[in-house]
Amino acid sequence: MKFENSLTFAQLQDQNDPLAEFRTRFHFPTFHNPNPVYFTGNSLGLQPKKAAAYIQEELDAWAKYGVEGHFLAKRPWFSYHENLTEMASKVVGAKPIEVVVTHSLTTNLHLLMASFYRPSGNRVKILCEEKAFPSDQYALASQVAFHGLPSNALVEVGPRIGEHLIREEDILQKIAELGEELALVMIGGVNYYTGQYFDLQKITRAGHAVGAIVGFDLAHAAGNVNLALHDWGVDFAAWCGYKYLNSSPGGVSGMFVHEKHAYNKELPRFAGWWGHNKEIRFQMEAGFEPIPGAEGWQLSNAPVLGMAAHLAALEIFDEAGMERIGQKRDLLTAYLAFLIEDVSARNQEKCAFEIITPKDPKQRGAQLSILAKGQARQLFDRLIDFGVIADWREPNVIRIAPAPLYNSFEDCYRFAQFLEQAIH
Ligand SMILES: *Cc1c(COP(=O)(O)O)cnc(C)c1O
Repeated sequence: MKFENSLTFAQLQDQNDPLAEFRTRFHFPTFHNPNPVYFTGNSLGLQPKKAAAYIQEELDAWAKYGVEGHFLAKRPWFSYHENLTEMASKVVGAKPIEVVVTHSLTTNLHLLMASFYRPSGNRVKILCEEKAFPSDQYALASQVAFHGLPSNALVEVGPRIGEHLIREEDILQKIAELGEELALVMIGGVNYYTGQYFDLQKITRAGHAVGAIVGFDLAHAAGNVNLALHDWGVDFAAWCGYKYLNSSPGGVSGMFVHEKHAYNKELPRFAGWWGHNKEIRFQMEAGFEPIPGAEGWQLSNAPVLGMAAHLAALEIFDEAGMERIGQKRDLLTAYLAFLIEDVSARNQEKCAFEIITPKDPKQRGAQLSILAKGQARQLFDRLIDFGVIADWREPNVIRIAPAPLYNSFEDCYRFAQFLEQAIH
């Protein structure tokens, strides 16, 4: 499609957008501008309007039933998480038995690594991406230390000198090179800084070819890119609910464990009563019997209020469908990239922008990371004054994410207008 930097063009795209109506399902923050351009759905997604009603239902049930709400609430708390499983599994391309929503992301990564990072003999290394999200760096380093291994058991693969992105061939090459020393590949599916989306299927195959386990942190991938975790044979994954999934600050996280591990009771794990056989859970007897599948990794009873927000959000995903979300994501992101390049080309001498996110739609989701050359921080502050809500990363990267469920082509157009005004 031929794009145009004009309001008429943007509005026409919005008229033809089958998902346009979904924008009205969300609250837009208007604390500093009545009509903001919200481009930080990759950091904290917007609140679905229905979330308040779902949370209120549980508060009412708590007031009305007290502890009996576990069984008497309309959606009994005892099994509240089960309301989320099927919809969450569709978002990540998994079978319901492979997915559970519980805990928080970093917690889940640790729980999964307790089971799937089993260094032994020479096979002790973990491969991750350089400059992984800090929580992942700490989690991985502490896993290595927990097993009494030296820090060089954690191997990073990064961009080549002078480049911003990690070449896929370098990841695959590193996996092959580590070979029998490689215990685990643990990479962020979409890099939080550059927005680079790795070929998870290829990485999984390469990891398995050398006998390693392969897991992914999908914090920036879930609800953003089209995943097929089951078909790709990924061993495990975890993601948070509050970025593209719009499910409340610090909200509940999702966990994926491939079906091939579902019935393996030999896997070591950190257990809790919520992962124990449901039929006999309340007999309160010793002897842990894991529920087959991802549910067997649950420790604690369901945090119902956070899950109520997630339920509201997942219903929207279910209605829109990842297929359509993906189509709009690619078009909207390409349009925004076009606009930024257009503005940049006309203002080279004042402030140039380089989009460091891959151009190939298969290698990115909804995020664009813009390297600003010139007076970048001042420019960013001007954008905020205009009503843009975006994300600044030191030293000079602006991250923006047009979320297909609630951002419009007009949002992209307005952003480009503000960008040009900010330059001037
Ligand atoms: C957002 C994010 C986190 C945050 O972890 P929490 O446990 O939810 O605080 C961790 N890892 C990655 C890759 C992220 O993008």
